[in-house]
Amino acid sequence: MRAVTLQAPGEVGIEEKPDPEIGAADEAVVRVEASGICGSDLHIFHGRVPVEPGFTIGHEFVGTVLAAGDDVERVSVGDRVLGCFHTACATCAACVRSDYHRCERGRIFGHGSRLGDLQGAQAEQLLVPRANLTLRQVPEGMSDEAALFAGDVMGTGYHAVAHVGMRAGDTVAVLGLGPVGLCAVQAALAGGAVRVFAIDSVEQRLEMARQFGATPVHLTEEEPKRVVRAATESRGVDVVVDAVGDPAPLAMAISLARDAGTVSGIGAYAGVGETPLGLAWLKGLTLRLGLANVIAHVDRVLALIDAGKLDPAPLVTHHMKLDEAAEAYAIYDRREALKIVLTP
Ligand code: ZN
Ligand code: ZN
Repeated sequence: MRAVTLQAPGEVGIEEKPDPEIGAADEAVVRVEASGICGSDLHIFHGRVPVEPGFTIGHEFVGTVLAAGDDVERVSVGDRVLGCFHTACATCAACVRSDYHRCERGRIFGHGSRLGDLQGAQAEQLLVPRANLTLRQVPEGMSDEAALFAGDVMGTGYHAVAHVGMRAGDTVAVLGLGPVGLCAVQAALAGGAVRVFAIDSVEQRLEMARQFGATPVHLTEEEPKRVVRAATESRGVDVVVDAVGDPAPLAMAISLARDAGTVSGIGAYAGVGETPLGLAWLKGLTLRLGLANVIAHVDRVLALIDAGKLDPAPLVTHHMKLDEAAEAYAIYDRREALKIVLTP
């Protein structure tokens, strides 16, 4: 089979690899019919997440089950399925709490030996461990590219508001309108947010957020804090989602939240940074951070997509072939695409 592999930082290639085979009873093999290129693939592409040369990358996929081990009960050979971007064991202390994103034996597809040694989904076939938890059937009539979002990007946008207990009637601000931020905008509105301020500096992304029903706010041409305060009787919003993951947007999130409000940090923070903790303390804010628990959310997210309340389709800007992966990564790296879907 053909597979997209990292050759060196800044270089991906197509390699011929043996078809995967089931090794354990809880595994399945999926013929991948669509895979996505994601922001976290760029961390690998640039060498910030170290992956061995020749490792197959990619972690978002939709396809058909080709083979299933004896313990795989929730999907069968021939089923059209989507996958979550990581696996979880279902039995460790974290999984028993339903914190699948913190599974002690969790493995991420396509992230090299340090993050579970699980070959990636940008390939013609994929070995899927823990298939009962990792895979879901695609609802009848749902497109591949819509289903592709449920196991990662839309699951993360949904987590950004669900994990902090956003309620119908809340006001929300979303910082950063990449795919996750735009999905968080949709999830907030689907969850009953009465107003969502969508903050970014890229016109097309602001326009997309406006089409979804949000109030676009330009990061530099407007003053987000003034706009939000003017619209909330100077109180600030109930929930702020930081979908960027840097000290500056976190500081802005703290400034935009109302007293006793919540900041949901879904962007990937790294290292050490300065945060206005005094202001966060004075306001009595709740901070909730970290990777999204997509396995816990995937059924609700699929149901919301199926019902038309979430619609990731507008985020797909490019359809390309697996063989064009090098060009696809170059386009994505130049930030010319929101989501690229690869097909064999
Ligand atoms: Zn992803
Ligand atoms: Zn576990």
